[in-house]
This record gives sequence, structure tokens and C-alpha cells, in this order.
Amino acid sequence: MWARDTANPCRTCGACCAYFRVSFYWGETDKAPGGYVPAELTVPEPPFYHLMRGTERIPPRCVALEGEVGHAVRCRIYERRPSPCREFGIQWKSGRVMVTLEALERCNRARVAWGLPPFKIEMFSTQLNRSLRSSRKSLQNRAGAVHSTRSKRSRRSAG
Ligand code: SF4
Ligand code: SF4
Repeated sequence: MWARDTANPCRTCGACCAYFRVSFYWGETDKAPGGYVPAELTVPEPPFYHLMRGTERIPPRCVALEGEVGHAVRCRIYERRPSPCREFGIQWKSGRVMVTLEALERCNRARVAWGLPPFKIEMFSTQLNRSLRSSRKSLQNRAGAVHSTRSKRSRRSAG
């Protein structure tokens, strides 16, 4: 997972909210104890699931999505959005973008369908080189530690 400090790219996109069916366990709706997704914005998908209303249609568009895809959008139930939305694509947390290659591929599928330019992983890789350097260093340190432990062990067994 890579990160960099940036503006939230989802605010000028919204493609995934108007491309995928958004299906989740009914227990996430506020009809269930502890549920939080407004049930009136969902449609049942029997026997156990609900869909965000609007994403059951073709073409899909979630009713909670406000604004124009590719320009300026917002989720009007952001704090109460279902788990697939929390887990999907680019994650933006405290001013940092978090994304994996697999997530970016799904994200780009929606963007391209909307005629938006796909994101490249390099756009989020400011941290990548730093992470790689630090993983490489820690691997080298670990390898060094293993080597020195082995040397001690072989010295002991030899002694
Ligand atoms: S398609 Fe990707 S960039 Fe666009 S809103 Fe969804 S997660 Fe964000
Ligand atoms: S609930 Fe919000 S984040 Fe999820 S699909 Fe709808 S608009 Fe997008």
C-alpha cells in the first residue's frame, strides 16, 4: 500500500459510485441493531443483502452521490456509507491517499468507463521508494543478524 500527501482525488471523480452495484449485508442498514446505512436509501436484495438505491439499475448511479461525475462530487452519507464503499479503491485518510495495485485497477475501470484518465501507481508512489528503501534496509539488517547468529551458532557447535 502506498501513500502520499494530497488532495482527495475522489472529490473530483465519483466514477465508482455510478458504475458498480453496491451490495452489502442487510445488517449494515439502520433497520438492524447497530446498523448505520440509511435503509431508505437502499433496496433489498433478498434474502440477505441490500443494494445502495440506484445501483440496481443500468446504468447505475447511487442515490447518495451528489454532483457531477468527473467534476465535483460528494457522498451525502459519507459517515454512514456501507462497507463496500469504505473498502473500495482509493482510500483517503487524514490527508493521505492509500491504494494498492489491485484497488487502483478497479478504480480505473470505473474511471475509464466515464472517460476519465486512469490513475498511474506512480502518482501515489512518493512514499514507495522510501518504503522500498526502508524494507530493503530492514531485510539487510535481518539478514545480517541471521548471519551473525548463524556464525555464533556454528562457532559454538564447532567449539
Ligand atoms: S473511482 Fe476511484 S478515484 Fe474515483 S471516486 Fe471511486 S475510488 Fe475515488
Ligand atoms: S454510498 Fe456514497 S460512497 Fe457509496 S456508492 Fe453511494 S455515493 Fe458512493
